[in-house]
Amino acid sequence: MLDSLFARIDDQRDALIALTQDLIRIPTVNPPGEGYLPCAQFLGERLKRSGFDVSYVRAEGAIGDSDRYPRTNVVARYDADGAGHTVHFNGHIDVIEAGLGWSVDPFGGTISNNRIYGRGSCDMKGGIAASVIALESILAEGIRFHGAMEISGTADEESGGFGGVAYLARQGFFSKPRVDHVIIPECLNVDRICIGHRGVWWAEIETFGKIAHGSMPFLGDCAIRHMGAVMRAFEEELLPSLANRRTGMPVVPEGARRSTLNLAAIHGGLPEQIDGLPSPNVPDRCRLMLDRRFPIEEDLADVKNEIVAILDDLTRSRPGFRYKINDVMEVLPTLTPEDADVVKAVAASISQVLGKPPELIVSPGSYDQKHIHRIGNLQECLAYGPGILDLAHQPDEYVEIDHLIASTKVMAASTLRLLGVPLR
Ligand SMILES: [Zn+2]
Repeated sequence: MLDSLFARIDDQRDALIALTQDLIRIPTVNPPGEGYLPCAQFLGERLKRSGFDVSYVRAEGAIGDSDRYPRTNVVARYDADGAGHTVHFNGHIDVIEAGLGWSVDPFGGTISNNRIYGRGSCDMKGGIAASVIALESILAEGIRFHGAMEISGTADEESGGFGGVAYLARQGFFSKPRVDHVIIPECLNVDRICIGHRGVWWAEIETFGKIAHGSMPFLGDCAIRHMGAVMRAFEEELLPSLANRRTGMPVVPEGARRSTLNLAAIHGGLPEQIDGLPSPNVPDRCRLMLDRRFPIEEDLADVKNEIVAILDDLTRSRPGFRYKINDVMEVLPTLTPEDADVVKAVAASISQVLGKPPELIVSPGSYDQKHIHRIGNLQECLAYGPGILDLAHQPDEYVEIDHLIASTKVMAASTLRLLGVPLR
């Protein structure tokens, strides 16, 4: 049965390429959330023709949702005769902006050297196309099964997923009994399974001073110097300590197998004047944005307290030091057990298609799995898809056509395993 299914997928090569190109050519750039409606409709219409029941769910009231930029999600479901498990493929339809440095049209879907180029080719329209062809091929083969297969195309993953998977999860789309197993075809390499991600804490620190004439700084109190003291403490105490905090999570790349802190932005001082000259004043406020990533061994409360303790130390030791700290976003780490059915099914299928066992990895950054775990309360979730992780968000992003084909076979075989179809 698999031989015939895999041969059919090989025959679908051109269809797979065309579908990937069609998706790339709808520039669903987020922010602001361009083109969600046409992209969702394009996927929905196609899956309807293939026999799926299709619904569109707009995340009304979600961050960024407006009539100009509606957060439109599509969910397609194929129910077989008889009850059974449901396997769901979830892909985000949004892409980040193209940016500079492209040698081809970022929204053209150019083919060269057996690769498809374009923004989203790797992250993750190639993966969405693979999941569509995988499920269509199962139906075209006439394989009998119980249960259901679903595909969703969702908004806003690149901005936190609040108008996409989080919204749908709140409506029960990612919970039992509707769904049992979720595969997210993110670009984590064709031979790897991603079982989770580190946690995230974004926070804003603000330091305060006193405004005065810039020619007499001693009459004021410089908020930027106070922030300098914060950054010095980070350099001398916090960053070396984080670098030594190793995690047992199999995070890739290796450098992210620890706790990390990025100083994401700094804003200080009064605005520059129209002619570009600096303000002639001592700045009375400065803001620093922190992007702290933490593994499963660290507790979010400890992560926060550690930074607050550094700031409180400065309040005691540094004259005039005053600060405020605001939470901006928090995401807990997530990890699917290695013996989950979805992990076993995808691992067996990778071994079968590629002839070698997969590597189990954890993503350094978070993705929509968090909402499926936390809101949907579903642990049966992983990320698997074609595309090389390092190419995501880069100029000249591409996906290897051979990886698209191989991952389509893995997705199809995994689906049959999870649906309990005996594989002869
Ligand atoms: Zn992605």
